[in-house]
Amino acid sequence: MERYSRQLLVKGIGIEGQKRLARSRVLLVGCGGLGTNIANILVRAGVGFIRIIDKDSVELSNLQRQSLYDEKDAKDNLPKVEAARRVLEQINSTVEIETVVEELISGNIDKYLTDIGLVMDGTDNFTTRFLINRACVKKGIPWIHGGVAATSGVVMNFTDKEGPCLECIYPGDLVSREVPGTGTVGILGTLTSVVGALQSNEAIKFLTGNIDNMMEGMLYIDLWRSTFERIAISKRDDCNCCKP
Ligand SMILES: [Zn+2]
Repeated sequence: MERYSRQLLVKGIGIEGQKRLARSRVLLVGCGGLGTNIANILVRAGVGFIRIIDKDSVELSNLQRQSLYDEKDAKDNLPKVEAARRVLEQINSTVEIETVVEELISGNIDKYLTDIGLVMDGTDNFTTRFLINRACVKKGIPWIHGGVAATSGVVMNFTDKEGPCLECIYPGDLVSREVPGTGTVGILGTLTSVVGALQSNEAIKFLTGNIDNMMEGMLYIDLWRSTFERIAISKRDDCNCCKP
């Protein structure tokens, strides 16, 4: 437990919280800007098991923000999850790490949600997020959303079964919700660190049993203006996804 001595001292965590973390099983979807930061934090914090799924390989343009990769990974065109696993195993060998070089799709999501207690959104598109949302609502699995573009981002917890789901917030035609990717609008390297850290922060509270301390609503972050705003969100009675 020496590894976690500073974390154990945090009020609300302690030995009991650390034991809860060690029993936790997390699915991380996407291992890019958000995902590398989330994996780094959660593996250091001592989650029991993390399954990381991403189909992409490391490219030179990733290195500005994707904190687990280096030039050799890009040169070797290594799958991101493999490059991440090598680093994460060096960081904390007590965490069980499973990697999947695939895209999360409707045909495999049930398999990868098996035995999972929390899903972390490290994706870069709404198609996959709506897929995660629908599967998690159906199975009653909590998940934590993060999204980034250029200099602004959002964080939302979908960890309360009585609360709204992603489709309550973004109803209607799902495909039209797609936002321009980082290849079009760019991305500030600090943004993925901030949003990934805030998602991980919510995950640590959730996994250690500090549910009452979790964030409510949508946190909207604008790093160019250096502002953090909390926006109220609510469940929709006519939601296509979560209405009873
Ligand atoms: Zn809903």
